[in-house]
Amino acid sequence: MEKILVEKTASRGIVAAPVYVYQEPDLSADTGSISKTQEPAEVQLFLKAKKEVVQELKRLSEGNELFGAHLEIAEDFTLSEGVISKIQNEQKNVQLALQETIEEFAAIFDSMDDEYMKERAADIRDIGKRFMAELKGVKRPDLGNLPGEVIVAAKDLYPSDTVKMNPDYVKGIITEEGGVTSHVSIIARSLNIPALVGVGRILDRLSDGMQVCMDAEAGVIFLDPDEDTLEEFRKKKEEFEKRQEYLKNLRNQPAVTRDGKRISLCANVGNPEDIQRAIPMNIDGIGLFRSEFLYMENDHFPTEEEQFEVYREAAKLCPKELTIRTLDIGGDKDLSYFDFEKEENPFLGWRAIRISLDMKEMFKTQLRAILRASAFGHVRIMFPMIISPEELRESRKLTEECMAELKMEGREFDEKIELGMMIETPASVMLAEDFAKEADFFSIGTNDLTQYLLAVDRGNRKVADRYSYFHPAVVKAISRVIEAGHKEGIKVGMCGEMAGDPGATMLLLDLGLDEFSMSAGNIDYIREKILTL
Ligand code: PEP
Ligand code: MG
Repeated sequence: MEKILVEKTASRGIVAAPVYVYQEPDLSADTGSISKTQEPAEVQLFLKAKKEVVQELKRLSEGNELFGAHLEIAEDFTLSEGVISKIQNEQKNVQLALQETIEEFAAIFDSMDDEYMKERAADIRDIGKRFMAELKGVKRPDLGNLPGEVIVAAKDLYPSDTVKMNPDYVKGIITEEGGVTSHVSIIARSLNIPALVGVGRILDRLSDGMQVCMDAEAGVIFLDPDEDTLEEFRKKKEEFEKRQEYLKNLRNQPAVTRDGKRISLCANVGNPEDIQRAIPMNIDGIGLFRSEFLYMENDHFPTEEEQFEVYREAAKLCPKELTIRTLDIGGDKDLSYFDFEKEENPFLGWRAIRISLDMKEMFKTQLRAILRASAFGHVRIMFPMIISPEELRESRKLTEECMAELKMEGREFDEKIELGMMIETPASVMLAEDFAKEADFFSIGTNDLTQYLLAVDRGNRKVADRYSYFHPAVVKAISRVIEAGHKEGIKVGMCGEMAGDPGATMLLLDLGLDEFSMSAGNIDYIREKILTL
């Protein structure tokens, strides 16, 4: 048995289960060349791998169109011809021949002008990984296809990994990297999965199936626990469940402070299923719908119709305020079908509103879909990462253009829809007084605001102790933004993780915050806190 202490809890809960080590195996090609006599054997290896890959893709494609497209590529004659020719004419070993052929194919698609064709390069590379895993006889991990109830342990988990995660099987998450406001933590909280992140080196001490207990209340992990520890653990779990029951019983009380101030308690979500999970918590609305998850779950930029369906479902599920944030991709969030050029500093690079304003047609597709959904509930639009009034004006102008188009087409939408912005950059804090004159509401994104104000990466374990939204610079920024908003009569909410921290509730109430929006897993705790203040 081994005991590991972890400083910060990303998502509360107590769980014991076998561990599943999520680790991308080494898929680099063997670089050696081969002799003439080895050629037939290498070709056979390729053909055998192809047979396996095709069989697997046939099975997967029964329930998923994406795999149908992958199957076509895997069966493509020119792909096989390319690999075999490199083996026979250039004496490359099968792995190298495959790697080079895949790269050549992908590069052709990369260079195309058509966005759809460009996106196919990612598919080709993905198929290349499938082939390579087969050739090397290694298994690739898949969070959508788990062996049963497990605790997932990984170096780090990115949104592209977690979108496939099934909460019925993922009972806990442990990552070596990451901080409590990194996206894996946010997703774990919204799915109510206990999570400990930034725990440091642990993977080399784990093996698939090893029993692990994690107490994501106290921040303790036991590897291979003995009977006594397991017994103690069961008791703790019981106590935890009793407390959850008590908190559940508070849900029918509105969030009112002891001196009678009614506080709006909202949830942060990534899809309609999250809304369904949050509604039983008696929420006042959705303060942040992270629309990028809809883009990440797809294998193409979702069409207006596809987006409309989802936003309308969300609006119907949540007839109270539903704040849809426009696409916030980039940074640590990428799309499998879009080639983001590698950037030195992705968090300071091409992300969020910058991408939307550079890809106007795509932006307008989203705005039209949101506007159309606004006929079915109380929808608000929120723009992320704004740094200048020009960006806000341009976003408003494009929204108005979409409104005019929809009107011409005779489609319904809320003509008085509110257009708000996230305050998550230092520039937006410095100009809060100006922005308050133009935006219909503010929502403070402390996750990014803290990292940008303090110059501390929100996901870097090495600087995690310096990342704090209690830093006076962050607190002053919040105070200034609330004051600026109130001076112009607009509401100021917060959708960064600070809003879900019971240790910050008193401070935020004192500063005058109007709305607290957080991962669903925190709502019960914040309600309990508000009722006592
Ligand atoms: C934030 O930055 O605080 C925020 C809510 O946005 P995200 O976590 O999605 O970057
Ligand atoms: Mg942000």
